Amino acid sequence: MMMGKQLYEGKAKKVFATDDPELLIVSYKDDATAFNGLKRGTIRGKGVINNQMSNLLMQYLEKGGVPTHFVKELNERETLVKKVSIVPLEVIIRNISAGSFAKHYGVEEGIVFDAPTIEFSYKNDALGDPLLNAYHALALKLATKEEIETIKQYAFRTNELLKAFWAECGVTLVDFKLEFGRLSDGTIVLADEISPDTCRLWDSKTGEKLDKDRFRRDLGGVEDAYQEIMRRLREHL
Ligand code: ADP
Ligand code: UDP
Repeated sequence: MMMGKQLYEGKAKKVFATDDPELLIVSYKDDATAFNGLKRGTIRGKGVINNQMSNLLMQYLEKGGVPTHFVKELNERETLVKKVSIVPLEVIIRNISAGSFAKHYGVEEGIVFDAPTIEFSYKNDALGDPLLNAYHALALKLATKEEIETIKQYAFRTNELLKAFWAECGVTLVDFKLEFGRLSDGTIVLADEISPDTCRLWDSKTGEKLDKDRFRRDLGGVEDAYQEIMRRLREHL
């Protein structure tokens, strides 16, 4: 597959065209940002881990009935994916209170919910990714009613599959963010990435954070946490 011109450089990845108009190459960087780009840094080796983890998890999800953009891992940092038109919604599923949920509703982190929650934010950096509900998404024509239904179904199915998988690794899946997109025929698939950048993952025994919160909150041991979570994934796949 020929790597074509760079189409986009985001905060964590670069996106390249290929000689097939339906396919893209994503390249994972070690750059880390938080708080809408206010905090910047580097997490050595993160790009390799996020690429490999995302690909392994997406293949696992495919087997469980969630269609994804994954095509083929090309090397440590680069993956061939199906090109989608991204639905500009960040889809967040939570099993346990943490982060902005705990802040918004004035509760401590670590409350285990009876059932998972779902929320959407409008993927728009200039507006700071504001929260919105499904009616707002319809009003703004970000997605159709049918697309939102499909996205919700896939998101909850993803949670069931990932929660069970991480539990086997001794890891509690607290919350995570997903992005979906449309293939050229309109089919909705899971896109972007699933990694310690986009999930909160806590050691089931000690509660230790094994995700990007170590970077966000200056907890130290960031690289070690990414290595440890990858080691556990490999041990159980
Ligand atoms: P950001 O744009 O938030 O800085 P990244 O650095 O991760 O994020 O950039 C990757 C970009 O590629 C994101 O905007 C994401 O929505 C987009 N993307 C992810 N998967 C696909 C895909 N299969 N097709 C097209 N765009 C994608
Ligand atoms: N998340 C993400 N990208 C974002 C916002 C959130 O990947 O732009 C992930 C985050 O890693 C966490 C989950 O979504 O796993 C919920 O994040 P939250 O709303 O608590 O926001 P935060 O605490 O990151 O501000």
